[in-house]
Amino acid sequence: MGKAESFDFTDMAKYNSDAELTLGNNKKGCFISIFVGIVILFLVVCLVIGVGLLVYFAGKDNACSENPGASNGNAAGLADKCKDLITNGESSICDLCKKSSTVIPVTTPAPPMLLDVRLPRSVLPELYTVELQPNMYEGPPDRFTFNGTVRIRVKCHETTSNITLHINKLNLTGEIRVTAASSSISIQYTRHEIDTTRQFLIVYTSVPLQPDQEYDLDMSFIGPLKDDLHGLYRSTYTRNNKPVFTVASFLAPSFARNILPCFDEPAIKAKFDVTLWRRENMTSLFNTIRLHSQERGNGWIADHFNTTPPVSTYLLAFIVSDFIYKEDVTANGITYRAWARPEAVNQTEYALSVGTKVLTYFENYFGIPFPLPKQDMIALPDFAAGAMENWGLITYRETAMLYDEHESSESNKQRVAEVISHELAHQWFGNLVTPSWWDDLWLNEGFASFVEYMGIEHVHPEWKPFDQIVVEDIQDVFNFDGLVTSHPVYVPVSHPDQINEIFDRISYGKGASIIHMMRFFLGEETFKNGLKRYLNNLAYKAAFHDDLWYALGNQSAVENKNLNVKEIMDTWTLQMNYPVVKVTVMADGNVRITQKRYLRDYGSTDPGKYVSPFNYKWEIPFTFTTKSNPKFNVTDADIHWMHKTDQEIIASNIPQSDWIIGNVMQYGYYRVTYSNENWNRLIEQMNQDHTVLYPTNRAQIINDAWNLAKSGDLDMVIALKTVNYLDKEKEFVAWQAALRELGYVDSMLERTSLYGPFSKFMRNKVSGIFNPSSLSSSNMTHLESFVNTLIAAEACKYGIQSCVNEASRLFNLWKQTPKQNPIRSSVRLTVYCTAIKHGTIEEWDFAYKMYQEANVASEKSRLMVALSCSNEVWVLSRYLQYSLISSEIRRQDSTSVIVYISENAIGRGLAWDFVRAHWNKLLEEQGSVLYRFARLVSGILNKFNTRYELKELETFLKENPNMGSGTRAFQQAIEKTKSNINWMDKNYDIVKQWLVDQGFLNV
Ligand SMILES: [Zn+2]
Repeated sequence: MGKAESFDFTDMAKYNSDAELTLGNNKKGCFISIFVGIVILFLVVCLVIGVGLLVYFAGKDNACSENPGASNGNAAGLADKCKDLITNGESSICDLCKKSSTVIPVTTPAPPMLLDVRLPRSVLPELYTVELQPNMYEGPPDRFTFNGTVRIRVKCHETTSNITLHINKLNLTGEIRVTAASSSISIQYTRHEIDTTRQFLIVYTSVPLQPDQEYDLDMSFIGPLKDDLHGLYRSTYTRNNKPVFTVASFLAPSFARNILPCFDEPAIKAKFDVTLWRRENMTSLFNTIRLHSQERGNGWIADHFNTTPPVSTYLLAFIVSDFIYKEDVTANGITYRAWARPEAVNQTEYALSVGTKVLTYFENYFGIPFPLPKQDMIALPDFAAGAMENWGLITYRETAMLYDEHESSESNKQRVAEVISHELAHQWFGNLVTPSWWDDLWLNEGFASFVEYMGIEHVHPEWKPFDQIVVEDIQDVFNFDGLVTSHPVYVPVSHPDQINEIFDRISYGKGASIIHMMRFFLGEETFKNGLKRYLNNLAYKAAFHDDLWYALGNQSAVENKNLNVKEIMDTWTLQMNYPVVKVTVMADGNVRITQKRYLRDYGSTDPGKYVSPFNYKWEIPFTFTTKSNPKFNVTDADIHWMHKTDQEIIASNIPQSDWIIGNVMQYGYYRVTYSNENWNRLIEQMNQDHTVLYPTNRAQIINDAWNLAKSGDLDMVIALKTVNYLDKEKEFVAWQAALRELGYVDSMLERTSLYGPFSKFMRNKVSGIFNPSSLSSSNMTHLESFVNTLIAAEACKYGIQSCVNEASRLFNLWKQTPKQNPIRSSVRLTVYCTAIKHGTIEEWDFAYKMYQEANVASEKSRLMVALSCSNEVWVLSRYLQYSLISSEIRRQDSTSVIVYISENAIGRGLAWDFVRAHWNKLLEEQGSVLYRFARLVSGILNKFNTRYELKELETFLKENPNMGSGTRAFQQAIEKTKSNINWMDKNYDIVKQWLVDQGFLNV
């Protein structure tokens, strides 16, 4: 699902943040938005249930008639609950209910842990016939509702006297009927009850349902159209200062039950026959094509859609909007439409061209045609995740789909291509073959996250996506997966709280990384044919991960490779963390390799939540290359398997003076280390001629050395030496790896006396490469532009005068002709930020005006970040105030603004004071959106690294023990601060001496 907001590494290099919404560096954004998009919302729902704010009004006669299944509550209780509901924006339902005195609300206590939330399998759906009527045309928006009817044709698989399915936040209206499909006689229904904890609707029948018989279950319902970004929700944008309403849906992982009563589990697939109501001036969209439309009076039109193939409920999508589209047809004849606000539809062309090409590529690669005659993509102004892969109707947030040649950066462009490719990959991995349960979520997300690179490789091979995967996914997720608080890729889950825990970088980034490794050790043909086997075997069905291992293992056997894929991959999916392989060339020229579990902090206590079945040993596809025999284009034929053992010897005859590199191209998901002599030889090679080593291995050497230094496995001085050659480096991946580490050093030294000498070092590394004319000229390739953007950001940040001057000059030019922006889009954030930092209130005010007027989402986002760059305390204070005024800053962006300000060295203290001063208001406004408050807390406290700051945090915690949804983030911030203090204690003097040795500091 929602390929998250990923890091905008080029635009945002300076601030290590995605202007759209991410806060941390690199793909933290992904992690966050996965939460945003999908499951945190789920968690919110669960918590809401837990605190009893959720009320069901279920009945057989009208919306508020007595619920025969309810066992507690009364009319007075209802009044209280309605107050709560109104607070929650559900006044429409309460108003309905006030008319009835017989309503009995059902509340339940918090769910016990390890509650089995799975549906029984005695009755399963075959076909849903649904009518939905969203009504957002009259009255105040907070009273908008939708209503609908559903007939579910179910098949009985074992004798039972009830039909159990899901429902949430819906108000049943009218009668419930159960009818034998063969006789059409409605006699079976007796009563129903709602189990709010499990979100079950249980319909009891008077006579037992019989195996192999089919029954029709008829219900009607009404629900609220809130702006809460899940279920069926309303979205608003402004045209001519008037609000325009749209209805969209977001159902993953379990919000389909908020739209209609249904069997809402990924493995329970059925066909859907949908009719969607709209007004004449609107358009409706569903997963399948529209067959015909019918007038229903009072200006209503009912659009009837083609029946779907068997589909999981979380993949449905319903949209009613006034959007328009551009259309194309794929090489294989699929109609492809790209929808957007009319004002933004001209920004869909790039998305359309990528989408049509990648869809056909995947059809050909997997050998299975896309089963629907059309594929729609739509860019929504309000969207929880990055995107959602609904079958045939993929929904995106605007920044993930819209691209404007003049306004968007190269990284915006890459992000659009990545997300489109990711979501199209899901059409096979997830939509056609679906995980049996959320515990194998990684089968969806790991695959989509990996296959997206294949799609990019197809449309933009010059972007070298399989070099980028090393920094974007492997090295990125190494960070998180090096902690004892990580978790295995596959984790059995039953309760929704446990499901929440696995929607993170492990399922996405580690999933993609180990699939990347698997493709390498299987070889391309085995990988491809094995996947075809897997997809063909399980099309329209559900899969467990062993199904994948067996399909690939069988393919390997057919091709006489006989790899035991399950045995290998279990070591990567059933235990957390990853190994570090120590490579030693012995006196006889043979290579000895040993493995141990890598932990960033070996002193940390494993919480013991997960036990390794393999004692933290892995099956490692090891490769190496040497100075006298350098070979970087390795294949599966070059692999030396290291089994789940401590040590292996590889026969060889390597000269003693050679350097050796393990994990060539970093295909494998493991770190490598060597003797100090070998590290120094590699560093010498980089200093002399770094191009002898493949770029990803240069990135690997830097990333491994710095992180082995963090864990105490390597001398920090060696890590520092790996970045000395950077002034000659021209490759994006190596710069990206280096700046990730140097960015951390920067944040630690930012307010110390070493910052001056450190800045001098940074200027020294970039001044030779930086060219001021690159801020406006655009004659460069995609990857050149990436490097250039990184370098420009560093050059201006560390005060290279030609960069500052050119940025200010260009910004002034833009001020004079706002409609003609002379700044190259990929460096705009740097230029805006620099001009605002070195400018006056005039620059700030102009940027703010441009922010308010921007029609391109990515431009708006970068202006929002740049406004936090001011050096004026009062300007930052005013911007902080704006963050809480929704007419100035959209409420969804307010916490981001505060965090951006805190990333400014001048703003750090201001933001912390501001948050403390407005703690209760922020907790109240943002606290119910879990991720948002947690992100705020972790964002503003990220760089704390002194004992004084630690004390402040501890005192604040004592004074505010009830942190609500910020609790965990605050505790983590305290841990992080301690770890930062440790880093300072351990490394400050080493870095200082190194700066002295390099001549950047005189003592
Ligand atoms: Zn996904």
